[in-house]
Amino acid sequence: MDYDKLAELLFGEITTTIADLEEQYPKRELPENAVVTRFAPSPTGFMHLGNLYGALVDERLARKNGSVFYLRIEDTDLKRSVENGVSDIIDALKSFGINFTEGATATGDIGAYGPYRQRQRINIYKTFAKKMVQLGRAYPCFCTEQDLAEMRSFQEKNKQNFGYYGSFAKHRDMPYDEIEKEIKNNVPYVLRFKSFGDPLKHTVINDPVRGKMEIPENDQDHVLLKSDGVPTYHFAHVCDDYLMRTTHVVRGEEWLSTLPLHIELFDALSLPRPLYIHTSQLMKLDEGAKRKLSKRKDKEAALSFYHKMGYPSNCVIEYLMTILNSNFEQWRSQNLLADINDFEFSPKKMGISGALFDLDKLNDVSKNYISRLSASEVLTLILEWAKSYDIELYNLLNNDTKKAEAILAIGRGGNKPRKDITYFEEVKNYLSFFYDELFKASDEFPENISKEDIENILKQYILIYDINDDQTAWFDKITKIAVDNGFAAKTKEYKQNPDAFKGHVGDVSSVIRVSVTGRQNSPDMFAVMQILGYDTVISRMKGYIK
Ligand code: GLU
Repeated sequence: MDYDKLAELLFGEITTTIADLEEQYPKRELPENAVVTRFAPSPTGFMHLGNLYGALVDERLARKNGSVFYLRIEDTDLKRSVENGVSDIIDALKSFGINFTEGATATGDIGAYGPYRQRQRINIYKTFAKKMVQLGRAYPCFCTEQDLAEMRSFQEKNKQNFGYYGSFAKHRDMPYDEIEKEIKNNVPYVLRFKSFGDPLKHTVINDPVRGKMEIPENDQDHVLLKSDGVPTYHFAHVCDDYLMRTTHVVRGEEWLSTLPLHIELFDALSLPRPLYIHTSQLMKLDEGAKRKLSKRKDKEAALSFYHKMGYPSNCVIEYLMTILNSNFEQWRSQNLLADINDFEFSPKKMGISGALFDLDKLNDVSKNYISRLSASEVLTLILEWAKSYDIELYNLLNNDTKKAEAILAIGRGGNKPRKDITYFEEVKNYLSFFYDELFKASDEFPENISKEDIENILKQYILIYDINDDQTAWFDKITKIAVDNGFAAKTKEYKQNPDAFKGHVGDVSSVIRVSVTGRQNSPDMFAVMQILGYDTVISRMKGYIK
């Protein structure tokens, strides 16, 4: 077979060569140890946690001086692409602090290795495809859908491997004249790779995460170009990652099964292989069993979930880092306040069994992080969140930021700050009793205190409450009321002799707490009452007196 003649027949219109492309996209001049990574999503309009997780690996690897982290849009599947796909991707990642140095942007491309959208690179793929044909490594296949379906059912019946390979590769050795006839008759065809692989032989791959892997060679004549000339992922990424000079291809482990094909494609074209890193699937525990985090079933799979709930973005990143690098958590505990960029990210420390995503653990990270912020820092974050997600809360807090800051300052600072807020959606409920507009009593008084005692305690307290008392004087008054009404002044005293008392001072505090906040649990009551002010405290207490 004269492969040059076949290449001209199929790709006569392509006059560029790979050498031309190499000249246009020369090897990058990078400082030592610099890397080139890319995030290559399909713009389907739904960014999920797995995307962020993968992009974070790319971004962390490209932290080294002079490295490149670019965005490539894999939009070859028009049916799945959505209108604002690109800006959605960029905005979603940016909202988690992940930015690109090069690539597609909402308004165009930045960088010398573009275009960065696969639909705009069709002639580039055809140039490589033509070369494959010239090398005798690609051929047109005229099989119809029906031919392929019949082949599949034959394979199923005879318990043979599925696919287009070996004796099933009907058009692999079609003579030139027959091909020419079909082409002249405009018979649709796909361009297939001519694999020389043997699955009984193994290729050795060094994956920085999985170590040395021996995987069976590919023997499938996979499709390179579909009948409309658009490449498959397999072929497109080989052309792109070579020309864009990617050094590290980070992608999900679902691509491991076709890695032998990808390697064979690089080798067939004599192109240097990039370093492949396959990240593990994100898993979750569901009724005790580990399963894949599902884009459809699990609300926490969508990135929008974290924004809506009001998790600080850097907590999500911090948490993902704990899953990504086994030594991150320890590093963080030893460097509580250090910048995350000081942590040396290493693919070697990535796990290979499914990475377990645990919302409770994220909650823990978030709660601890928020507890360490100053009142004014946390207020700024809450306002930012509430502006988009809860305008009522935003207005309440923003109308009196001094009050809001005072509320958030309760129990903050010191070695053991309160950990009341996990995400900002909780804030409204947390501070609702500070605002008459939101106040609603949710808890009952403790059951062990009679209605009569409750009324007496409140009546007496109203008479002696003075907003100008300091904390000691304030507590002395509560103790006095306790004693006057038959409650022990100290818990210990009560425990030693429970029959001698109705209860203890804590019960009396609870009556005051529930009457003022509507809850059995609240931050420090002295501070709460100071912020609420005399009138509000008294009027809420009066509400319980007949
Ligand atoms: N477009 C592919 C995907 O969304 C990218 C895989 C890769 O990063 O190479 O799965």
